[in-house]
Amino acid sequence: MSAAAIDADPAVRWTRDADLGARTSFRVPARAAWLVEVADADALPGVLADPRMDDGLLVFGGGSNLLFAGDFGGVALALTGDAVALNAHGDSDGDGETVIVRAEAGRGWHDFVLHTLAMGLSGLENLSLIPGTVGAAPIQNIGAYGVELDRRVHAVEAWDRERGAAVRLAAADCGFAYRDSRFKREPGRWVVTAVEFMLSRTSQLELGYAGLGAELAAMGLTAPTPAQVSDAVCRIRRRKLPDPALLGNAGSFFKNPIVSSAQADALLSGHPGLPCFDAGSPGMRKLSAAWLIEAAGWKGHRDGDAGVAPGHALVLVNHGDASGAELLALARRIAASVQARFGVALEPEPRIIGAHW
Ligand SMILES: Cc1cc2nc3c(=O)[nH]c(=O)nc-3n(C[C@H](O)[C@H](O)[C@H](O)COP(=O)(O)OP(=O)(O)OC[C@H]3O[C@@H](n4cnc5c(N)ncnc54)[C@H](O)[C@@H]3O)c2cc1C
Repeated sequence: MSAAAIDADPAVRWTRDADLGARTSFRVPARAAWLVEVADADALPGVLADPRMDDGLLVFGGGSNLLFAGDFGGVALALTGDAVALNAHGDSDGDGETVIVRAEAGRGWHDFVLHTLAMGLSGLENLSLIPGTVGAAPIQNIGAYGVELDRRVHAVEAWDRERGAAVRLAAADCGFAYRDSRFKREPGRWVVTAVEFMLSRTSQLELGYAGLGAELAAMGLTAPTPAQVSDAVCRIRRRKLPDPALLGNAGSFFKNPIVSSAQADALLSGHPGLPCFDAGSPGMRKLSAAWLIEAAGWKGHRDGDAGVAPGHALVLVNHGDASGAELLALARRIAASVQARFGVALEPEPRIIGAHW
């Protein structure tokens, strides 16, 4: 039986036996012993000291990068504060072009992107329509259409559970990498409460990513505004990715694998069509996970209600009643077959709850 308990602090709301599945984009069955929703980050120290935390803490945003392989016996904590403020700490580069915008963790990501565009600010347009919250965006350093979040982050505000203190980390101290950060590498330590972004009053457009220029040309735009770039990104995403409201999914299920240049060259000699990119570090290359999975024959595959999207080999989908364990089993089979065929290890992008990869 589920029951909401009225807490003395109006900024804090506890719910026992909470249905989390409905809050995740995979929409697999999942419950948490407790859900605590916190509207004011100042209430965090008291909430985190609650004895219910002894059974484990899962910080929960929009549930678009989580796969529950089972129920969670601890507390799922969701921050719901969503305020946005300009030049929150008075920081500015002094030229009047650069603006620091601070958003609280509970703000919906796409809504925040649209808000910055409406304020006439450029920088986040390529990251339009990524599901989830502002607070989760730094965890895997979200990226799309040629821009990764770290290039726009000024600082991350968080509660450090190790030190028991509120901290403000400069972008350089966040350990950002491809779909990775120190927040992801140190699970359980950080509760991100707000993110500060460095945006520009003048356009700083990144149009080099394959497909984006073609979309803008199809829209008849030769000198697009940041808002028009956002529209183009939304059009491409709506065409390419299944809508989680209609078909449960978590976007890309696997990261693009990073391998040595020698391994990449050996693979390319046998498979000249394999897309291969700069990995940002010497001697390493990034391969297309989608190509590897499609070449191994998985695109459109279905095991009961757990499947691979017919239009995108990287996206695992829940056709209706798949469990998280069934989706995880399918993901393992896909990874094993890619390993056997190409000698490349795939790693999942979403966080898996209740099982180890
Ligand atoms: C259709 C679709 C398309 C997608 N496209 C992209 C894409 O193009 N690029 C991309 O990078 N990702 C993409 N994603 C993945 C996902 O949207 C992002 O990872 C997003 O940032 C997750 O946000 P969330 O609020 O839903 O986080 P959740 O799924 O709730 O949580 C994800 C992780 O972040 C942690 N977390 C959440 N909030 C906090 C916080 N405040 N403090 C500390 N830890 C926290 C959680 O514990 C968990 O480990 C896509 C997902 C879907 C469903």
